[in-house]
Amino acid sequence: MASEADPELLHVETFVVAAGRPERSPGSSANVPVELTSTYAADGDVNYARSGNPTWNAFEEALGGLEGGRALVHASGMGAISAALSLLPPGGTVVAPDTTYNGTGDLLVAHEKAGGTVVRIHATDTARFLAALESADLLWLESPTNPLMDVTELEVVLGRARELGVTSVVDNTLSTPLLCRPLTLGADVVVHSVTKYLSGHSDVVLGATVVADTERGRSIGERLFRHRTLHGAIAGPLEVFLALRGLRTLSVRFERASASAAELARRLADHPGVERVRYPGVGAILSIDVAGDAEAAERVCSATRLWLHSTSLGGVESQVERRRRHPSESEQVPPNLLRLSVGIEHVDDLWADLDQALRAI
Ligand SMILES: *Cc1c(COP(=O)(O)O)cnc(C)c1O
Repeated sequence: MASEADPELLHVETFVVAAGRPERSPGSSANVPVELTSTYAADGDVNYARSGNPTWNAFEEALGGLEGGRALVHASGMGAISAALSLLPPGGTVVAPDTTYNGTGDLLVAHEKAGGTVVRIHATDTARFLAALESADLLWLESPTNPLMDVTELEVVLGRARELGVTSVVDNTLSTPLLCRPLTLGADVVVHSVTKYLSGHSDVVLGATVVADTERGRSIGERLFRHRTLHGAIAGPLEVFLALRGLRTLSVRFERASASAAELARRLADHPGVERVRYPGVGAILSIDVAGDAEAAERVCSATRLWLHSTSLGGVESQVERRRRHPSESEQVPPNLLRLSVGIEHVDDLWADLDQALRAI
């Protein structure tokens, strides 16, 4: 891979299109191929495909450039999260928000059962984060939180973790590198569910980790690489090809979806079927507390025709879900809360469909 795309010189809209292309020569392909191989002829850089694949390299170059570091693609967001949590010593102390992605929350409970400590703090309580960091081994952050949409003061909390030498991880799935680049704020590791915005079409499950291109970052990156290779949660080359193809349109998709989310947040605030809108002011996800109970909220989901009633987020199609239908969801999430992942359809069609569904309560 010898792409000429330099993330320092190009606008992000250009970089996502240009990054991870094959070197140009007469007759060369515009795209990297899907390299379907399990092994390579001896004495090259990589000898077996559990540790490397050229299609991965292209995607990793593009995502690494976007986040300002070095990326590794994993089999799923949870594969990436498991690799990042392996940085936590057995029995160690992790400081995390009191609502996290529920898969992460379940792994934190498993860490406690194995004798470790988890200190859970409300995402906006900066003072408590700073105090808890004094005795932490690992800091885990997500901002905004999902689905309550609380925003953490990342720069302050990550800065303190850096001063204290506490390893820090940010799940940047919801913000994407278009809104936030945690490595520039002092994070050690960025985690993504590539399944969501980066791929953007609800057709693959993939994850990624990114570390800074510094001595400290590269040494953490070595540990993540070892975890990926030895635990074996590696990505299929076809999925990674699709993710890179999706990444090409990230900025146009995210811009459109974010503009529609802002407009829907404004309109929903005055809707008689809505008790509360939770929207951090940026991004393409918002949550609403329906004026009614859990059953009423479920009826809204069943009544939409355009919005896809489904779990997950970040696709081109708009998605709606009552999060508490999952038993592992935090009890802090109200039973009548619906998470709306806004897609790229016309905002008036999205509004009309939501409006009729909310009137069906
Ligand atoms: C979906 C998601 C994950 C898990 O990713 P998978 O690709 O489903 O394994 C982790 N974090 C966040 C914020 C997510 O939305």
